[in-house]
Amino acid sequence: MSMGMEPQGPPLEMIFGNYMPWKIDDTTWVISFMEGSEFIYLLEGDEYALLLDTGYGIGHLRELAERLTDKKILVANTHFHPDHSAGNGEWEEVMVSSTWEIDAPSVNNPGAGPVDLNALPHPDYRKKLMHDGDIIDLGGRKIRVLDVLPAHCNSSLFFVDEDHKMLFTGDEYESHQTIMYDNSCNPDAPYHVEKRLENLKANALRLKEIVGEGWYLLPNHNGTPIALSYLDGYVALVDAIFDGTATIEDKLNHRFIEMDPKAPELCRVRHASVSIFIKKAEVLKVYGTRK
Ligand SMILES: [Zn+2]
Repeated sequence: MSMGMEPQGPPLEMIFGNYMPWKIDDTTWVISFMEGSEFIYLLEGDEYALLLDTGYGIGHLRELAERLTDKKILVANTHFHPDHSAGNGEWEEVMVSSTWEIDAPSVNNPGAGPVDLNALPHPDYRKKLMHDGDIIDLGGRKIRVLDVLPAHCNSSLFFVDEDHKMLFTGDEYESHQTIMYDNSCNPDAPYHVEKRLENLKANALRLKEIVGEGWYLLPNHNGTPIALSYLDGYVALVDAIFDGTATIEDKLNHRFIEMDPKAPELCRVRHASVSIFIKKAEVLKVYGTRK
């Protein structure tokens, strides 16, 4: 999501921290917030539960999660952006990507969200670094962690739940659109547009090897679960950018991204039912270069 937001209307707590839980199956909760547009997941096994993401650190997420399950809760981040990890300090330990530090300025930036992170109970919480192939064993339910090539950001992990045929994609793949401009707030973070787009495609091809009949794709924004065909859509979009057939639109048509200070530099690049937000000057560097 974007930084520097100044929403009008309801109080910030109602938007950032008004959590509404619902079930996908008997042991998998979706906790929605940001007016129903963003999701946190709670996966329950026989011994432990796994909370995927911690929101902005506003409201009472830990209290709510502990009311939903009586299992000991483990916590992990899909990636290190403020709407996913600013609430980490509610817990003593959080599992994060080994590359979390590249995107950390987006969370520590005082303008990133509505909360003083030092006011949370565990501002110096432990970070457990996760690597490709690591298994989080919840008891009768094993979650496999995958490293993600930098595309939406530098610090993403995918979480694969083969027992429930669920694949958690963080912000790397959403319905309709994915954010592909640099939003690390880190002037030293690497950003190479051609590589980012190639990674967006390569990550999708890797996930396509895992999912199949009966699988769910569960992103953190804009509806969940979403059709597996979105993976094909993102592969086709990247190809359409390189061959110059994707459509570049200056109108963003997205309430939150239009509030981002970067908005004047951004465009939406569309192919069929899939699109990305990206800096126009960046996408023009590679648009139509592989006709
Ligand atoms: Zn993000």
